[in-house]
Amino acid sequence: MKKLVLATRNSYKIEEIKTLLADLDLEIVSLDDFPAVPPLVEDGATIEENSVKKARAVFHHTKLPSLADDSGLEVFYLNGRPGVRSARYTGDDASDEENNGRLLSEMRGVAPRRRRAQFRAVITLVGNGFQESAEGVCPGRLAESPRGTNGFGYDPIFVPDGFDKTYAELTAEEKNLISHRARALQKMREILKLSSFLQSSPAAARG
Ligand code: IMP
Repeated sequence: MKKLVLATRNSYKIEEIKTLLADLDLEIVSLDDFPAVPPLVEDGATIEENSVKKARAVFHHTKLPSLADDSGLEVFYLNGRPGVRSARYTGDDASDEENNGRLLSEMRGVAPRRRRAQFRAVITLVGNGFQESAEGVCPGRLAESPRGTNGFGYDPIFVPDGFDKTYAELTAEEKNLISHRARALQKMREILKLSSFLQSSPAAARG
């Protein structure tokens, strides 16, 4: 079976991606299985850049096909912030609560119709001689205050279109039907099926 390394140590992302690719003939591992890989530096100017950078770095270190997700929340009223800086909106070791708190205070008093936002994910697969990226977007709006306890990050303050609940009030199954990451992975699945990746077995990917 082909091995695929997820270029993350985020347990929520690992769980979501494993679930969404569960039916493919892949053994999916993550950076938790490669503790020697150094922390990935996310200093790209865009979500796309960071996605490519992380997938390439993990392929370089593990010599195994590597799949990276870089994602972020883009608020139109804030000209796309926090965007590429979503994980570090209040600083390098920012907690989810601190990031959510900053965003909500910047949006305090902003009318419902001006609270449009979207989550965006770029998934990149890098392997021996190939590199492919796929993007997924989930449109929605910012809640007035946090609601729900599922998920991670900005989940409690993002209401996807078609729902009154936040991402954090949806079950994992409901989120996985509509999320930005699910949409990007859906495209990546098609790329994987069409490519030789699932069929061929270069030496580097064995074992
Ligand atoms: P990165 O992709 O590891 O740079 O970080 C993405 C950041 O965006 C996370 O730390 C979260 O703050 C946020 N984010 C990305 N995807 C999600 C999601 O599905 N729910 C909530 N927050 C997310």
